[in-house]
Amino acid sequence: MNIALLLEMAAEAAPDRIALVCDGKRWTYSDLLAAARGAFAIIQDSGADYVALLDESSEAAVIAVFGAALAGVPYCPLNYRLPDADLAALLGRIAPALVIGDEERVTRIAQDQGHTILSREEFTLQTQETVPADDAREYDPGEGVAIQLFTSGTTAAPKAAILRHSNLLGYILGTVEFAGADEADAALVVVPPYHIAGISALLSSIYAQRRIVMLPSFSPEGWLALVQAEAVTNAFVVPTMLSRIIEAMDNGTTAEIASLRAIAYGGGKMPLEVIHKALERFPAAGFTNAYGLTETSSTVALLGPEDHRQALASSDSKIRARLTSLGKPIPTVEMEIRGDDGRVMPVGEAGEIYVRGEQVSGEYKEKSALDADGWFPTRDAGYMDEEGYLFLSGRADDVIVRGGENMSPGEIEDVLLTHPAIADACACAIPSVEWGEAVGIAVVTRDGHEAPHENELKDLVRQRLRSSRVPEKVAFVTELPYNEMGKLLRRKVKDVLAG
Ligand code: ATP
Repeated sequence: MNIALLLEMAAEAAPDRIALVCDGKRWTYSDLLAAARGAFAIIQDSGADYVALLDESSEAAVIAVFGAALAGVPYCPLNYRLPDADLAALLGRIAPALVIGDEERVTRIAQDQGHTILSREEFTLQTQETVPADDAREYDPGEGVAIQLFTSGTTAAPKAAILRHSNLLGYILGTVEFAGADEADAALVVVPPYHIAGISALLSSIYAQRRIVMLPSFSPEGWLALVQAEAVTNAFVVPTMLSRIIEAMDNGTTAEIASLRAIAYGGGKMPLEVIHKALERFPAAGFTNAYGLTETSSTVALLGPEDHRQALASSDSKIRARLTSLGKPIPTVEMEIRGDDGRVMPVGEAGEIYVRGEQVSGEYKEKSALDADGWFPTRDAGYMDEEGYLFLSGRADDVIVRGGENMSPGEIEDVLLTHPAIADACACAIPSVEWGEAVGIAVVTRDGHEAPHENELKDLVRQRLRSSRVPEKVAFVTELPYNEMGKLLRRKVKDVLAG
């Protein structure tokens, strides 16, 4: 039970098949395994307790996953977009490490912390035909830590989530149908290597013996060009990427996209208008909305292509509304919606989403968040309808509690977005002497429109929702802060409203 097995199996079954295309270089499965074995030796010689990566998507990011797994050392890819000081703090939490990346930057950040530093090139050049037989690895039940990932930190400081080999293999083996991928199967990986979506795309592609096509930094034009050049069949995007790809197509960027059979999206809320346009723009592709967390090794619920097609074709508003859902829990995961008192909520009523299953780690470096029965509280609020479709109402940490009344920002934002002059909106809690918390909103005016008066927005909310939802503070901003995964950073909006 070790994720390195996925690469070993693929290299044995299809040694000459192209495994990776990155920066114009092509690696076969046997090239990749030889490099991972070379990395194993480097890691062992370093004596480090962790392998940290401070690099954008590159061959080093792939080789490090498997090299570390072979050496039995946790792999910890870091968000290279963070400022130096934040990265130094994260590296301080995973010492001593072998740190791979841009040598100058890594040295600047990490040299005083006792880490071993290696450039991307030095790390990937060494190859080795075999690794010594290791009984511990062979018979390991998978309890070793494969990957340690820092969460995005959208609600609080990043947490060090731990994923064991058994969690990741539980996800891969439980969810990916080994459908005999053929030579034409190529998966485009553009999500950064420090995010669970990037890791799971990598592992499932290797398992299916696909060709992984890496786009180190996203641009809609670059993405479309690579789809055409590599006849890409499968891709995962976050909502902001899909929206920018469609915008580029609307503005005249053309590419041959007929090869695309499957487009998965997730990581944050997909605006309805974007998915509608995407279904028109990519008529040959099957779309999947994937909902998951770092702590659950990726997807725990999904809305598949058939549901997308049905929702689009139906005149029944309930079926059409499924496009705003997260679909149903995957068969290998159990899911419950629980109220504040821990009781399972009736159908249609919102509560916190709990999940349980082999792929659910729910563990952080410092402690486990699993309850005594192995259930993980996701901190996401949602409800399930009679058919079992899951709807997300927001994150438990984002709930606004005004005088004891709970409200989710999403319901207020949805109303604000119906105003023709509002392009984007965020609602969050602001301190209130009278109520403890009250509603504050930040809105972005649509290009070519005049900003509405704040009373007009308050009236709009008053007409559609209860009066407790009416915002007490309104800020007009040029844009809302999103991170590179398309997640709205409410913490920052709160700072703006507090200012
Ligand atoms: P932190 O916990 O540090 O704030 P984070 O929760 O953003 O970071 P991730 O594990 O990357 O870290 O994100 C998981 C969250 O992303 C989920 O809890 C959910 O709120 C959101 N999410 C994931 N997939 C979807 C999806 N398909 N639609 C809507 N939201 C999603």
